[in-house]
Amino acid sequence: KVRVRFAPSPTGGLHLGGVRTVLFNYLFAKQHKGEFVLRIEDTDQTRYVPGAEEYISECLSWCGLTPDESPALGGPYGPYRQSERKPLYRQYAEKLVQSGHAYYAFDTPEELESMRERLKTPENPSPQYNHLVRQKMRNSLTLPDAEVQELLVKNTPHVIRINMPASEDITFTDMVRGAVTFNTSQVDDKVLLKADGMPTYHLAVVVDDYLMKITHAFRGEEWLPSAPVHLLLWKYLGWEADMPQWAHLPLILKPDGNGKLSKRDGDRLGFPVYAMNWMDPKTGDLTTGFRERGFLPEAFVNMLAMLGWNDGTEQEIFSLAELIEKFSMERVHKAGAKFDYEKAKWFNHQYIHHKDNDSLAALFQPVLAEKGISAAPAYVATVAGLVKERCYFVNDIWEHGFFFFQSPASYDEAAVKPKWNADKEAFFTAWSAQLETLGTAPAAELEAAFKALATERNLKMGDVQLPFRIMLTGGKFGPPVFDIVATLGVAETRNRIAKGLE
Ligand code: GLU
Repeated sequence: KVRVRFAPSPTGGLHLGGVRTVLFNYLFAKQHKGEFVLRIEDTDQTRYVPGAEEYISECLSWCGLTPDESPALGGPYGPYRQSERKPLYRQYAEKLVQSGHAYYAFDTPEELESMRERLKTPENPSPQYNHLVRQKMRNSLTLPDAEVQELLVKNTPHVIRINMPASEDITFTDMVRGAVTFNTSQVDDKVLLKADGMPTYHLAVVVDDYLMKITHAFRGEEWLPSAPVHLLLWKYLGWEADMPQWAHLPLILKPDGNGKLSKRDGDRLGFPVYAMNWMDPKTGDLTTGFRERGFLPEAFVNMLAMLGWNDGTEQEIFSLAELIEKFSMERVHKAGAKFDYEKAKWFNHQYIHHKDNDSLAALFQPVLAEKGISAAPAYVATVAGLVKERCYFVNDIWEHGFFFFQSPASYDEAAVKPKWNADKEAFFTAWSAQLETLGTAPAAELEAAFKALATERNLKMGDVQLPFRIMLTGGKFGPPVFDIVATLGVAETRNRIAKGLE
């Protein structure tokens, strides 16, 4: 049974790269009729940010990528918050010490600091605790057994570190990158269990993926350097046969391709990088989200799917159901994916354009409410239907259709005045009178009547249609003019003609 997990650390808002990791996990799970687990990796208490976990859950619901097991939902392998699993991890660290794959390190912060001071060079400003350094430090590999026992009995603060082989090639098959090889000489003796008994990410991620029976682990490429540590832990704990298949997903790059799109790039580059607004509880700084910027979740999700994946055709618009059917890890690119905000807007435009009018109207109602306008749902739906092809965001309905809710405050005089004359004025007076008899006629009928009246009065359609539009909307824009009339209704149209003739 396929079981995947998204394992965020609750350290802040969720970057679009994080949501893409969620998406690929979700698609893979659903395609294989498997389970998608949300696990909160909160063992680093110093980086814990209140509210981040709630934010992540809300984000997943907004995107429609909800987990099958999570801290909120529970499940057979809980708890799903690592801080609540704390007592579980020590036994595995101890087991590794017993088998010689890990060791106790008693170095005080001052000793570590002086080691770094002593060894640092311009090329290597922060020397690591590795197989060379460990020999000169205070740990259970260098101290006599009796002394180690005594230190332990006296509860001397200590951590447990992995005993990294000096130089050993470690190879694994990544579902995206193929064979990946690391030499252990590049990796230091990572801490597995901290002095306070909390596991570090490295130990906790392996233990939990094992205990939660995770079959596939997908995560961002930034975790690739940690893979050798995790692989060795799987091996040393005797769990190699159960190790999940890995996929490290390509980075999302800045629009110019110059480096990773970071959380700090949000707003600075003029577009959101977070899924939803995030308010840093410490600084009070607000970072804009795609949701608040006006993205529809289905457009956001579709756009994310295309960052680093395609189905081998030119198709770009995929429903979630189609993505579930077509997604494959083998088609995920190795190279980073450049983020293009204009393209993201294009996706949203596609979804707005093809969304049904009633749903669009429901999304637009809050925008109207904010302006103190209340309008019948059916009316708002008609308006949405008329302007949606021009909209990138739900808010744009206002820009392209405000005149459906209020008469224009000013007119584009330059467009009408030069050609205005008494004949036209008389035409509109007659047209207004005729409109009263036409009542609630459909747009085509209104247009035919308008044309007939113009012909009768020897006026060209072009001479009267633009002034008419300007009376209704204030400018040279908007959907077909007789659709506007049919929507506004006769009474309001006549009001606007009267106002335009003043
Ligand atoms: N806790 C890690 C993170 O914050 C998870 C990485 C992984 O999936 O192994 O992204």
